[in-house]
Amino acid sequence: MVAEQKAFLPGPVLLMGAPGVGKGTQAKELILRWRIPQISTGDLLRANVASRTELGLAAKQLMDSGKLVPDDLVNQMVEARLAMPDTVSGYILDGYPRTLAQAEWLDLRLSLANDAAPLVAVSIAVEYTQLLRRITGRLTCPTCGSIYNIHLQPPLRAGLCDLDGTPLQRRDDDSEAVFAGRMHAYEVQTAPVVRHYQELGRLVVVDGEAEPEVVSARVEAAVHGLREENREH
Ligand code: AMP
Repeated sequence: MVAEQKAFLPGPVLLMGAPGVGKGTQAKELILRWRIPQISTGDLLRANVASRTELGLAAKQLMDSGKLVPDDLVNQMVEARLAMPDTVSGYILDGYPRTLAQAEWLDLRLSLANDAAPLVAVSIAVEYTQLLRRITGRLTCPTCGSIYNIHLQPPLRAGLCDLDGTPLQRRDDDSEAVFAGRMHAYEVQTAPVVRHYQELGRLVVVDGEAEPEVVSARVEAAVHGLREENREH
């Protein structure tokens, strides 16, 4: 089993699903298991906002209102990240692609990179009211990125990270008002991307309404299954 895990090359894995399904939480589990990087376009954009880069300044208002950042800006950011050497055995794309234009860009890029394993995608499904509860209760550690939820997974000491004691922060867009806009963007712009990968036989939907460890086991099994099915591609 250990040898099998060592030999497993995850390749590019997309984690998809509406805001609050737990993509970030799952990505953090999987990067430890597979020793590949998490590439979260939301995190990369928030880092740009925090350091006031040109991209961050262009993105901030859109992010605060739950709208998507233009495809070419996000694609360029992803291109730069994928060029880094730590992506060679695979990576987890969290929150990307979010539009069909992004998916087409990524598909083309991967088809040109002939040594890459085929992309596989897992979509995590969680019911609407549960998503709202998760989003409005979410707290994140700005130091280590750990994710908590005041209702479902509270920190041991209120408002402080269990791992490093940093005061936890709430994302500006994790409010009920912005949530509706983010869900709208998901349904209109991102749900077609889920269908795109489903039609290509590259996607499995996983039930995300369980403890994070249970969902991780489901996601992992889905990726192994998809890798097996897509081996000859
Ligand atoms: P997330 O952390 O994935 O929920 O993303 C937070 C916000 O960043 C989104 O509501 C968008 O405004 C922006 N964003 C993140 N990823 C993308 C993407 N792939 N395309 C466009 N906008 C994105």
